[in-house]
Formats: sequence, structure tokens, C-alpha cells
Amino acid sequence: MYVVPGDTGRGSEGRPNAGFIVTSEGVVVIDALASPAQGEQLVRTIRSVTRQPIRWLVLTHHHPDHHFGAIVLRRAGARVLAHPDVATGVDEQSREAAESAWTLVVGRAQMAGFAYADVPDVVVTGADTLRLGGKTIVIGHPWRGAAHTVGDLIVWLPAERVVFAGDLLIEDGVTMVVDGSSQGLLAALAALDALDARVAVPGHGAIPADPAGLIARTRDYITGLRIAMRGAIEHHRSLNRALDSLPAPDEGRPVSLHSRERRNANRVYLEVEKELMGLEP
Ligand SMILES: [Zn+2]
Repeated sequence: MYVVPGDTGRGSEGRPNAGFIVTSEGVVVIDALASPAQGEQLVRTIRSVTRQPIRWLVLTHHHPDHHFGAIVLRRAGARVLAHPDVATGVDEQSREAAESAWTLVVGRAQMAGFAYADVPDVVVTGADTLRLGGKTIVIGHPWRGAAHTVGDLIVWLPAERVVFAGDLLIEDGVTMVVDGSSQGLLAALAALDALDARVAVPGHGAIPADPAGLIARTRDYITGLRIAMRGAIEHHRSLNRALDSLPAPDEGRPVSLHSRERRNANRVYLEVEKELMGLEP
């Protein structure tokens, strides 16, 4: 089992993590990084440790930074195992727009050879177990509803007690719920907690020494945000006034921590407002 850590030195702007599992019957890759160029680097890393065929690519969700390198893995022979809901944050018609927007983020050179490869060959919505070369790899969505996104999956190795959590856990920033829901995220965190993992690989940032600690920190953050937004709504404070209580966004850094916290607060305010009105969030 290998983890390919992203650049963890830039806070929540850091690059995503990926991983791969080598078995005697092939390799299972978890996430494909943010561009074809990064996907090629990932394949080179895999080739530096094994000649086994790359059989599967599991996608933890459909955000660009986790799957825009997928086409390279697919061309290398991988079949894609993912949640079928690829429309995370973008509708089907907007996938072209998402590609253009992402090209501005990572640069044209990084995106050379890009094509979407996140539509699953094998669909997972509940739980699926891969048995390959004597290894058991459980891929699943063991909670109800959207959490970080509508299409989150986790990868669990029960014998090794290792979990790849995708962006349900972020070690160097905050877990985003703008494409998912805070209630769903709390359910997903409870499912992660119940695994009692020895190692939890977050979607971004370093592997925490204490997995339960990172899960608890994430739960406290989301619970705190829900309480704050609920308080604002009950005191008839508008969304804008509720956001005023948060740190100002950093000028010129749209993906800074403060900006992310405000986007989360915005989403949670609307979600809690619906809950209080008895509507489906
Ligand atoms: Zn994500």
C-alpha cells in the first residue's frame, strides 16, 4: 500500500493525495490527481515500484483535482470504479466549462491530452469488495446522502486497517460541503469513525498520527458551523450578517482558508434554514 502525497506545504491550496495498492494480480489506484501531466507522474511512480498491470482506478469523488489525470490511468489499462453521480458542482452540460476553468488553474501544458475518464466502468453506490491477489479492498459509501459531494466513496483495507477518505477528511484546511451537505458529512464521519482505522489518508494534507483526532476535529468544525448558522437564523440575522461574523476572505486568494470557510458557512446557513422550515436540505 503506497500513498502518493500531494504538496502539503501550501495549506488548503495544496495538491491532492493519491494512493495505490500493489497485489500479485495487479495494481489498484486511488484517485488520479489533477491533470494528465500529474496522472503521468503517478504512473511513473507506480512503475518505479512494480511491473504489475494497473487494473483499477477508484475515484473518491468527482472534483477535478482528484480525477483530471484519470484518462492517463485508463489509457494505461485501468478500469474506473466510481460513484455514478459525476455531476459534482457542475451539471452534465457544464463539464466542458469545468474543463476550461480547470485549465486556467493548472495551465494548458498540464492539461495536454485531457479527456474525461470519470464515468465509471463499474458503478458503486453502496459497497463493493474487490478481491485481488489475496487482498480485500472494500469500496463504499456507507452513509446516506451527499457529504463532501453527492458521489463520495471511501476505500477500506480491513486487514491493514487503512482507509482512504478522499476529501471527507482534509488535514491542511477544512472539509468543504458546498457540493454536498453538512448533515451528510456528519453521517460520513460517523461511518469513518466506526472503522477505527489505524491509518486514515485524507484527500489533502499529511497523514494524521491520530486518525480519530482528525475525524473529531472535522466533526467539531462542522457541528460548530451548524450551531453558529442556526443561531443566526433563530436571531433573524440575514446570511450576509451571519457571514460578517467570520474572518474576511483573503484578498486575491480565492481558495484561501477564510474564503473556504465563508463558502461553507453560506452552504450550511441555507441548509439549516431549510431544515428549520421542515424542507429537505
Ligand atoms: Zn473534493
